[in-house]
Amino acid sequence: MKTTIVSPRIYTYGSLVLGGVLRDRGHCVSITRDLRSRGEVTLLSLFSTSQLLDPDVRGFARGSQRIYVGGPVGLVPEIVLGELEVDGVVMGEGEEIAADLVERGACTDIPGVAFCQGGEVVKTEPIPVSDLDHVMPLIPEDLKSQNIRGANVYIETHRGCLGGCTFCQVPRFFGRSIRSRSLDNILGEVREMKRMGVSRVAVSGGTGTLFGYGGTVNKKAFIDLLEALAGILGPRNLSVPDMRVDFVDEEILEAVRRYTVGWVFFGIESGSEEILKAMKKGTTPEKNLEAVELAHRCGVKVGGSFIVGYPGETEEDYQATLDFMEEAVLDDVFCSVAEPIPGTPLASLVLDLPREDNLLYQEETGDYRPLQLSAAEARCFDLLLHGMSCRPVPRIVDEGTYSAFLEEARVQGRDVRRVMELLEKYREHIV
Ligand code: SF4
Repeated sequence: MKTTIVSPRIYTYGSLVLGGVLRDRGHCVSITRDLRSRGEVTLLSLFSTSQLLDPDVRGFARGSQRIYVGGPVGLVPEIVLGELEVDGVVMGEGEEIAADLVERGACTDIPGVAFCQGGEVVKTEPIPVSDLDHVMPLIPEDLKSQNIRGANVYIETHRGCLGGCTFCQVPRFFGRSIRSRSLDNILGEVREMKRMGVSRVAVSGGTGTLFGYGGTVNKKAFIDLLEALAGILGPRNLSVPDMRVDFVDEEILEAVRRYTVGWVFFGIESGSEEILKAMKKGTTPEKNLEAVELAHRCGVKVGGSFIVGYPGETEEDYQATLDFMEEAVLDDVFCSVAEPIPGTPLASLVLDLPREDNLLYQEETGDYRPLQLSAAEARCFDLLLHGMSCRPVPRIVDEGTYSAFLEEARVQGRDVRRVMELLEKYREHIV
């Protein structure tokens, strides 16, 4: 039986591992990003809620004879089954489950699956994966030409996060205890990727330094990992983008400088202590600032990501974020309009919020009024502009950059409003 794994836009790491599992079980399996390719059985890997609303994805699902969906969207399977014409949804960590689905063709006795039966959604109890030492992933020929924020591929070194940030799906999808892969398993995979032409690899997993965590941060395990990966790829071809500010110190940042592209990305989120508390971020503006300054002293560049439009964010909170950016002097800045991902506490929170209190639906009445943005979009646009002038060497905002930032803010606002509509439609499964 010919099985096709479709991972629209980018090859997700999970789709590559799933391909490896099926190949090793003797299946004829291929993997593609192309939404025109189907097999006798199709496995569709989706990483964001807005993909459920993409007309191409919806049409693809409708035209497939046997199709199952996996990925973080499986956190609330009722939405997937309500929006896409598919045979089943893998609700959690799905490599083995999806392979069982292909082989058995019925969802009923497979753990961690949701499907429709007699007009009702039926869910089977998931079983978490205990051994993360994967089989060798299926590595497509064109993985080497993929570019995700500068890397050909993001690989997984561990699953889970100790954090409980209200907006994040990582601890809800993978849990709050840390399970790490063995170093040998990771290195074998990266050697094979290199042999297949992959040159730039990023380590994903919510916060990189949790690799090897065993009750405390295992600095040695993390530094050995970076050294060994750099030994295979070369130091300028490895990145460890996502870090929590409270899980770095001088030794770790030294290793980041020596063995990687020399950047970290901190989820700073806000300059307001109140908003950080509301997000259950577990940090403070002071801790965030100290980590940025430490990284700079260690010769590591820092990108900061921020969230605007979080429920309850006042003008003063937003001003605190702008003040933070000025003080921190970040090398790059990313901004997101708060997205209530289904299955996260933020999703429940925004559903309880009256529309008139949601910045996404409030008209901007300040300086950007002529641009006809919502208040959340206006903050996103303003923050991106501000980020240009708060760099070590301030950048001029030319016409192209201005338009790109404006478009970015508008698209984010539109996409998050669409997610809001989905939440309202499936309210009974969210709250
Ligand atoms: S945002 Fe980062 S630190 Fe917070 S829960 Fe998610 S992965 Fe963990």
